[in-house]
Amino acid sequence: MTEYMPDFAVFRPSNLTELLDMRREDAGAQLLGGGTDLIVNIRRGIARPDRLIDLNGVAELRHIESFDGKGAGEVRIGAAVTLAMLIDDPLVRSTYPIIVEAAQEVAAATHREIATVGGNLCLDTRCVFYNQSEWWRRSNNYCLKSRGTICHVAPKGDHCFAAFSGDLAPALIVLGADVEILGTSGERRLPLQDIYADDGMAHVLLGKDECLVAVRLPRTTDLQAGYAKMRVRGAIDFPLVGVAVALQRQGDKLSKLRVALTGTNSQPILVEGTQALLGKSFDNEQIEHLVDLLPKQIQPMTSTFSPPGYRRKVAANLTRSLIKRLFNTVI
Ligand code: FAD
Ligand code: SF4
Repeated sequence: MTEYMPDFAVFRPSNLTELLDMRREDAGAQLLGGGTDLIVNIRRGIARPDRLIDLNGVAELRHIESFDGKGAGEVRIGAAVTLAMLIDDPLVRSTYPIIVEAAQEVAAATHREIATVGGNLCLDTRCVFYNQSEWWRRSNNYCLKSRGTICHVAPKGDHCFAAFSGDLAPALIVLGADVEILGTSGERRLPLQDIYADDGMAHVLLGKDECLVAVRLPRTTDLQAGYAKMRVRGAIDFPLVGVAVALQRQGDKLSKLRVALTGTNSQPILVEGTQALLGKSFDNEQIEHLVDLLPKQIQPMTSTFSPPGYRRKVAANLTRSLIKRLFNTVI
């Protein structure tokens, strides 16, 4: 069966006031960033919105700003900033090279010209049984996440294990990013990791009328941070696992450490327990202590072509090599 693009209406607000007016009138319309994921899903019949709100014309969402007055010491990245803009921005390049590293790993150069920060952070979860054509899914009686009754990954359960596979989230989380969320009842600001839940069917905790409008970052310069990713095709692919690490070194010890992963669960994972490594001489034993934290916190399932056991090993190896590289980089 040929896949086709169904009809849908597209609304194009030019500022936040117009966006909010549209949300008040029609909270059910789906937000559109670059469409590099959403439009593919619509064509496959996975997503079926009949109204989209295109955020690309909303002027307030297209800037990267550094605050000197109120909110001094912070950088604000608008949700409709494209990944190409992010990669080319001089402030981002000089202050947060980890963001450039992660953004450069997303899809291919042509996608990055239109793919947005908001779209990457709110990316749908992925599964080998779900991101397929309509006829393929129908032949398999669909699945729990869409129009079916069982999960092919864990048939006895009632949970969806589709994996969150965005590259930017772990990099922003280890930098301590907050997000600004705007809805018809007002604005709220919260740590980025708090917008996620480990549920492949509902992994982004935004209200129906809400929009992620910006990312806020502390203007940190005392962290050594990096991102490493393993994917099947080096030039264009989602992460089998992506690892972000931010650390501060004092002599032969760590004084700060944050580690986050993507591709393993339905949400990005900020690893808990890393503070146990602080203030101790950093050596291979400490690295293994960190790696030992992973198995209980990550849960790769058979939602990709690569087996879970392999992805666990990749997560451990990427973490080992990245933390060594960063610790040995003098700042
Ligand atoms: P869209 O497709 O426009 O939107 C994605 C989702 O986010 C939709 O549900 C939309 O409603 C929602 N959304 C958009 N903006 C907002 C907002 N401001 N507030 C709330 N919700 C919002 N991604 C990776 O991370 N890494 C990869 O390696 C990667 N490889 C890819 C390879 C291919 C071949 C393709 C086609 C895609 C790939 N992607 C990858 C997915 C996608 O291209 C990127 O994640 C991209 O950054 C998504 O951004 P977008 O603006 O195009 O999102
Ligand atoms: Fe469907 Fe299960 Fe895959 Fe979720 S994990 S998309 S329910 S097969």
